[in-house]
Amino acid sequence: MNSVLEPHLPPPNGKRIVVIGGGFAGIEFAKKLTSRDFQIVLLDKNNYHQFQPLFYQVATAGIEPSAISYPFRKLFQNKPNFHFRLAEVFHIDTVTHVLETSIGDITYDYLVLAMGAQTNFYGNPSLEKHTFPLKSTTESLVFRNSILKKFEDALLAKTYEERKKLLQFVVVGGGPTGVEVSGALAEMKKFILPKDYPEVDFDLMKIFLIEGSDRILSAMSPGSSSTAKSYLEKFGVEVFTNRTVAHYDGSVATLSDQSTIQTSTVIWAAGVKAVRIDGLRQEVYLPNNRIKVDPYNRVTGYDNIYVLGDQAVGVTAMPQVAQVAIQQAWRLAKNLNKGFDLAKWRPFKYHDMGTMATVGRNKAVAEIYGLKFSGFVAWFIWMFIHLISLLGFKNRLQTLINWAWNYFSYDQSLRLMINSHKEPTFLRSPSSKAFRQVASTQAKETKDGSRPSNERILATNP
Ligand SMILES: Cc1cc2nc3c(=O)[nH]c(=O)nc-3n(C[C@H](O)[C@H](O)[C@H](O)COP(=O)(O)OP(=O)(O)OC[C@H]3O[C@@H](n4cnc5c(N)ncnc54)[C@H](O)[C@@H]3O)c2cc1C
Repeated sequence: MNSVLEPHLPPPNGKRIVVIGGGFAGIEFAKKLTSRDFQIVLLDKNNYHQFQPLFYQVATAGIEPSAISYPFRKLFQNKPNFHFRLAEVFHIDTVTHVLETSIGDITYDYLVLAMGAQTNFYGNPSLEKHTFPLKSTTESLVFRNSILKKFEDALLAKTYEERKKLLQFVVVGGGPTGVEVSGALAEMKKFILPKDYPEVDFDLMKIFLIEGSDRILSAMSPGSSSTAKSYLEKFGVEVFTNRTVAHYDGSVATLSDQSTIQTSTVIWAAGVKAVRIDGLRQEVYLPNNRIKVDPYNRVTGYDNIYVLGDQAVGVTAMPQVAQVAIQQAWRLAKNLNKGFDLAKWRPFKYHDMGTMATVGRNKAVAEIYGLKFSGFVAWFIWMFIHLISLLGFKNRLQTLINWAWNYFSYDQSLRLMINSHKEPTFLRSPSSKAFRQVASTQAKETKDGSRPSNERILATNP
């Protein structure tokens, strides 16, 4: 047990409820828990909330990472009895009610696990080593840098084969993320990249979408799934179903039917598994790390531990989507606001509002409350719902402006390769003159307000 550091939390007036994870579930729960009987402590390894459905747009240079991120401290500025700590949680001691974290031990009376999911490579080390996952803002930026670098490298390639490999992109997984990434890459190929790289032969740029089942978007109706496929094919994406990627060595992707694709970029959008936290009894975990909960979101056998979102699985199967996380969080917060008289609590019931995916400009499919939409209407609904779901007025406005600009100009202005190489050594040495100059300019900007007040995202180097 790590007891060296002290997280300096004030002693609670009532009971302390610790929430691990500020994703959709964690922040909605903390927002809706209004009972003064609780001190709320939110722990997250990042200091900001990430809006995962738009990671692919960051990855394909459509919007800036700051537009889909929001600092927890700003979000909860006015919430009484609330404390945020930047901390990674490693272990739960369910007997002493102590969490082992990167900032020291933290005690809890009640615990809410909302740690989400992580990329699942299904135990395949070659895929884990060489493919690009899209499960964090940092990974999205790494991918964005990589795409742009591939085009710079393609100009320098010495052979036709080498150039072809750099310009072939394989997307694995035909769910919404795989479809959206493929569509966005195809749009970049059609409208944007040829203007930046007039010397590149864009006939060589190919996008392959590989799906293991017999159709893409298998959570939607066969009609929507075939509409999405035809949109992708119109954009030039080659869709392969009933095939998986069995091996990838960074150069050649080998599919399950033994066919091969020469590529230096494989994007892995083929599955997630829940984040694993140790300390609970073994039998509460399912093979994909999800934790079994009762209709009140309690972990079976523990009356002070609740699980929400991607990490939880209820009595009926639930998809790992934002709506489940949000609705579970609301239900649990409302129940806890009533106190602990279970007679007053209501069990959680998921209301499936539908699902949607966009392929690109004017092309999307949406199924909402049983109604099916496609084309421009579905695309408009998709944009509207994603826009209003973003946290913060400024983020919404910034995204709206970016989208409108991209739509009318057929261009994206965000094709910067950030952090693609280490910063110059002189900037890393605190004793250097250049380092001191940069630090002092930043401090001055923050003090006089010229550095925007919500730029409080702690950037992590990929
Ligand atoms: C690329 C992509 C696209 C998606 N698109 C859609 C979509 O279009 N529609 C939809 O409904 N859903 C979509 N999803 C799924 C949706 O984002 C998830 O279902 C949702 O984020 C789950 O919310 P959550 O609160 O359970 O977890 P998350 O939102 O994943 O949040 C988990 C939080 O826990 C923190 N954390 C994890 N481990 C620790 C630790 N040890 N210590 C401290 N903090 C920790 C993380 O930093 C994170 O902030 C998408 C997911 C991805 C990856």
